[in-house]
Amino acid sequence: MLQAYRKGQLSGNGIFTRKCHGWLEKNIGCKKAFLTHSGTTALEMAAVLIDIRPGDEVIMPSYTFVSTANAFVLFGAKPVFVDIRPDTLNLDERKVRAAITPRTRAIVPVHYAGVSSEMDEIISIAEKYDLFVIEDAAHAILSSYKGKKLGSFGHLAALSFHETKNIISGEGGALLVNDPRLKERAAFIWEKGTNRINFFLGKVDKYTWVDKGSSYLPSELTAAFLWAQMEKARSIIARRMEIWQRYHKAFRAMEEQGLLRRPIVPGHCRHTAHMYYILLDNPAERKRILSYLEARGVGAIFHYIPLHLSAAGKRYARTCGNLKETEKLSQRLVRLPLWVGMKKQDVSLVIDSVYKAVRSVKRRKGPVK
Ligand SMILES: *Cc1c(COP(=O)(O)O)cnc(C)c1O
Repeated sequence: MLQAYRKGQLSGNGIFTRKCHGWLEKNIGCKKAFLTHSGTTALEMAAVLIDIRPGDEVIMPSYTFVSTANAFVLFGAKPVFVDIRPDTLNLDERKVRAAITPRTRAIVPVHYAGVSSEMDEIISIAEKYDLFVIEDAAHAILSSYKGKKLGSFGHLAALSFHETKNIISGEGGALLVNDPRLKERAAFIWEKGTNRINFFLGKVDKYTWVDKGSSYLPSELTAAFLWAQMEKARSIIARRMEIWQRYHKAFRAMEEQGLLRRPIVPGHCRHTAHMYYILLDNPAERKRILSYLEARGVGAIFHYIPLHLSAAGKRYARTCGNLKETEKLSQRLVRLPLWVGMKKQDVSLVIDSVYKAVRSVKRRKGPVK
């Protein structure tokens, strides 16, 4: 950040922004990367880029963060919620086809906890019906599906560098572009609808208004912070993975005794330890376990409240079929603390507290299915 200051460019699209773009293109294998102010604005930029209009429909899970839906609602589209798979908690690709209408424009799979959605099936459905695929890869930086990095599958993909994510810049995000047809317009939209990029490339002698757009580019201060994170990305993820693995090993015995369910990671998916969660039997049990953990100073929390049950979800979206798995699973999930600065004894404390909490609450109960 001091270097950015000394170089005398604090506004966007300077040397640190370009370093970050290069890193993303090299490590993810996307065709073009654009830093944004957040994962939310990366999704909004995606909506602008595919010309989302009032009345369009966009298929997505209800079990996600509000921004996945809001980005499209802002431009008048209707999110159509489809249920999730019981194993990975990702969009159930087997239920997507039933949600397609003549108004459908895009499918937005969310790679929950950094574990990939079933991209082969999703892409083949999208090709058949001529739809865009926009990956919400906010949890999934450097995760992969069948050996290929997430964010390189969809026509477009969004990353988040919010401080709760793996690689951070406080607020921040990126739009990844894989469809070559969208590359040039993405650059215009990113820089307020101007062809400033062509001016820098020496293709035009002055830049002008050529498209719709906004100011999606973050300042060099943000990019410089992010670049430092990218330089340390491998070690950050390795440390997160150690913690994840410790949880996973520790809770194996409890899973075998039917006391809880651990995350399921299909063999063809590699994740980067964005989060660790356990699934309990029912909401009442979860509530008691969460208060037991809270009383011991363990910051365990539940996660998304399904969007179709929210006030805005009811107003702006519709569902396709029942969302039974979404409703059941979201009420059983407990997210455990996982961050790079956790010490060994912190992790031990969490494990020990979960053991005690589950045992005390379960004493008079049957097994978890
Ligand atoms: C965090 C997150 C976002 C939004 O990212 P911000 O950078 O916080 O705007 C979008 N989708 C999912 C699934 C997220 O977890």
